Amino acid sequence: MKQSILDFTLEEIEKQVTQKFRAKQLYNWIYQQNVDSFSQMNNVPKSLREELAKKYLLLPLEILKKEQSRDGSIKYLFKLIDGHTIESVLLKMKDAQYDNEGKLVHHAKFTICVSTQVGCKVGCAFCLTAKSGFIRNLTAGEIVGQVLEIKKDVNIASNRRVNIVYMGMGEPLDNFDNLVKSIEIFRNENGLSISPKRQTVSTSGISSKIKRLGETGLGVQLAISLHAVDDSLREKLIPMNRAYNIASIVKAVKEFPVNTRKRVMFEYLVIKDVNDDINSAKKLLKLLQGIKSKVNLIYFNPYPGTKFKRPSRENMENFQKYLLDRGLLCTIRESKGIDISAACGQLREQELGI
Ligand code: SAH
Ligand code: SF4
Repeated sequence: MKQSILDFTLEEIEKQVTQKFRAKQLYNWIYQQNVDSFSQMNNVPKSLREELAKKYLLLPLEILKKEQSRDGSIKYLFKLIDGHTIESVLLKMKDAQYDNEGKLVHHAKFTICVSTQVGCKVGCAFCLTAKSGFIRNLTAGEIVGQVLEIKKDVNIASNRRVNIVYMGMGEPLDNFDNLVKSIEIFRNENGLSISPKRQTVSTSGISSKIKRLGETGLGVQLAISLHAVDDSLREKLIPMNRAYNIASIVKAVKEFPVNTRKRVMFEYLVIKDVNDDINSAKKLLKLLQGIKSKVNLIYFNPYPGTKFKRPSRENMENFQKYLLDRGLLCTIRESKGIDISAACGQLREQELGI
């Protein structure tokens, strides 16, 4: 499989060119000028352009399908060069704001949710991505390419920074090296310039790798897909909990270096009659004591063939109120893109006809 130039950090490109400054030029063309081909890089010598074009692809994925939601979110299905497909979502967090004369005051705010693997090994009982098993890791370039393509597709100016959440298909920490590389490529100031503070890695809780991620010193934000407060229930939902139980995750989180202003996010997928009771909220509060955290409650999004059900709004709000009343920050994830196939994996499954 031909490699993409997006697979390389700036330092790696510097090693491949005879004049170091060429690497910055290339980065500028790729990430700031959004070119589609090496031939457009007109301040780079033709011989180098041709050499690179022979060796590398510029963009390793193409848009196969997209679905727009009423709230402005867009879900993308990308095709990789080997024909596999992955999903990414552009989430519109805030609309652009204009003053009375129609002058732009604030730009719209976007978050892009990226995938890190084709499929996933973790096998969570509630997750559609898990159903088709694990196919392969994405390369760093395939992770970065999702953001580049989406920014281009919706004309987000190249200097407008977006936030990144690693919450698409796959378990990011199971593709550790490419994850770290993508974080570095995203943050490079000659490229997309997205500070690690604006990048959130969501994990189902591979404790040993949480520790390793902390040790990289990248300063990335952390989100834990907790979903249950007892090991017995969590094992049923996330089989990997047998190897990495709740206590080991809490320990890893406590040791994780968090930017002083930020909190670790605990995602809690709420499933009707499984984990939506106040007793669970009570245990969750106790579990998170002493951790600078916030809880994000997520409505389970049903799909054909699942035995799980979406919780009632009432239970969801009671759960939230219980935590808020006791001083724990807690939000309910807005059902962005609820009218498109909302949770990750669902657009792909539709396409594959699973
Ligand atoms: N593997 C990582 C990141 C990707 S999963 C992790 O598990 O954290 C992305 C998120 O989608 C997770 O928080 C997961 O709980 C959620 N999710 C999976 N299936 C869902 C569904 N049917 N409805 C709502 N959220 C779902
Ligand atoms: Fe993998 Fe995350 Fe889905 Fe679990 S929820 S199967 S870890 S993608």
